[in-house]
Amino acid sequence: MTDFEYSNGELYAEQVPLARIAEQVGTPVYVYSAEAFRRRARDFRDGVAQAGRVHLAFAIKANPNLAVLRLLANEGYGADVVSGGEMARALAAGMAAKDIVFSGVGKTRAELATGLDKGIGQFNLELEEEGVVLAEIARSKGLVAPATLRVNPDVDAGTHAKISTGKAENKFGLPIDQAPDIFDRLAPLGGLNLRGVAVHIGSQLKSLDPLEKAFVRVGELVAELRGRGHTITHVDLGGGLGVRYQDGDVPPTAQEFGAMVARVTQGWDVELMFEPGRVISANAGLLVTEVLWVKPGVTNPWVVVDAAMNDLARVALYDAHHDISSVKPSGERIVANVCGPVCESSDVFAKDREIDAVKGGDLIVLHSAGAYGATMASTYNSRPLVPEVLVSGDRHAIVAGRIAAETIMDEEQVPDWL
Ligand SMILES: *Cc1c(COP(=O)(O)O)cnc(C)c1O
Repeated sequence: MTDFEYSNGELYAEQVPLARIAEQVGTPVYVYSAEAFRRRARDFRDGVAQAGRVHLAFAIKANPNLAVLRLLANEGYGADVVSGGEMARALAAGMAAKDIVFSGVGKTRAELATGLDKGIGQFNLELEEEGVVLAEIARSKGLVAPATLRVNPDVDAGTHAKISTGKAENKFGLPIDQAPDIFDRLAPLGGLNLRGVAVHIGSQLKSLDPLEKAFVRVGELVAELRGRGHTITHVDLGGGLGVRYQDGDVPPTAQEFGAMVARVTQGWDVELMFEPGRVISANAGLLVTEVLWVKPGVTNPWVVVDAAMNDLARVALYDAHHDISSVKPSGERIVANVCGPVCESSDVFAKDREIDAVKGGDLIVLHSAGAYGATMASTYNSRPLVPEVLVSGDRHAIVAGRIAAETIMDEEQVPDWL
């Protein structure tokens, strides 16, 4: 048995019943399948292998848990990081500094300096001034910073507006038509090894078309840069591949993606870099929660669960859909709304959804929660930080403990002048 399947009427993570985990760890709790991570990591690697020489950098903002990162490091993945904190995690998980790519629109000078000290493999620059500053810091340390320019190809990713990054009006990357001149000015700077370009147009992309359009533009840019005498050895094609969240979602497979990349990048003669996040992790995890109450509603009942928008923000943030099912379904179905206890009207996981019939004390799961789930959790409403459990075969381990509201309160002080 792999991933999350029913056996004898109850839902398992690999060979471990979810009810057992809920009993031992309490709810809400994220549960991950190691095998699911591994299979998707290998799938993606096999898909892009069609394109030749590749570097894989898991976008760790999707799931930064140390155990998850260790597992992916064992699968040959480095990391795409967007903050000093993520850099520290990737290193702590055992990823080699040279396998880490530092992305992000607002890296601080301190983060750039730390990245240089640690020997980070590549800095993806978001603006010309960042390149100038990085070169300065590197020179002052007697180092050379490997870097690319992240360009904004002005392509509509066709995804939710809040996860689109590749349109001209988005804050990410520099305008692709300005890239050659900026490259001309940055490339000669001592302390900088400006070796290529990077692109990332958005997340949960359900079609390969916008990706292909962006990659074609990047290919034209590479040719133009070479025409100007620049040496281009690396092209970072970002992440963004979509996943299945519900019936009817048919995202491109890793094989289809890899075939498109191989076709578009033929003859580029560079090391291709990828930053997959969601495609590796979304369907490797779910959120287990207990039904607290079934509260009568005007049309449909409210199933009030002990997980909330602070534990899984995607629904409130992106109107995302997560499939919902019972850990031990009775066979009966109802139409209901599913919500958390947080005092916000957006703390609703599903409206007018047909789900397994439930009563107080039952366990349900929100599927496809392995990406942008626990990592976005907060303590809003002074709720504890949600724990995470990793399952492998018949074993499981708490890989992030529940951080109590009291622990967070310990960091607060009431000044003595009050
Ligand atoms: C978020 C992000 C990714 C990962 O996106 P997914 O959709 O999870 O694959 C990759 N690269 C950059 C620069 C990002 O910001």
